[in-house]
Amino acid sequence: MMTVQKDRVVSIEYELKDPSGTIIDSSKGAPDLVYIHGNGYLIPGLEKELEGKKVNDVINCVVQPAEAYGERDEELVFSVPRSQFGDAEKIEPGMQFQAEQEDGIHIVTVVSADSENVTIDANHPLAGIPLHFSVKINDIREATPEELEHGHVHGSGCGDECGDDCGCGCGCGD
Ligand code: ZN
Repeated sequence: MMTVQKDRVVSIEYELKDPSGTIIDSSKGAPDLVYIHGNGYLIPGLEKELEGKKVNDVINCVVQPAEAYGERDEELVFSVPRSQFGDAEKIEPGMQFQAEQEDGIHIVTVVSADSENVTIDANHPLAGIPLHFSVKINDIREATPEELEHGHVHGSGCGDECGDDCGCGCGCGD
């Protein structure tokens, strides 16, 4: 029987909760999440838990921050002048912005704001939180050479990873 291994395409449905039981994310009502295993698409701790499992297996696990989105770093909480937010009129605690940094796009969350300064938290929103997953494996197949070359799944779940120049025919670039 086929098991979850590197470079196989795995279809899962999942539910993610924080330690208090609040649902953070879920595939409910959406198509299965389809990904190529062993290529860093999922957080490392979850890929580890799924490794070697088979279709119809249900995995309930807790992934610690070190194998998910990292520990919180309080140095990433800091104030910036309100003027840096351009002409944004309303800046309220809890608002999230995308900020581009050297190592990619980060989500920053507004902690507080007054007329002069905005305090933001640049930690990943899930940093420092043990993640409680419930995952059911619905399908496993070998990835095609083309999928491995492109680094994404064709046919379903390609999402918006496929650029216009992908040419893989999956249709998402149309
Ligand atoms: Zn492609």
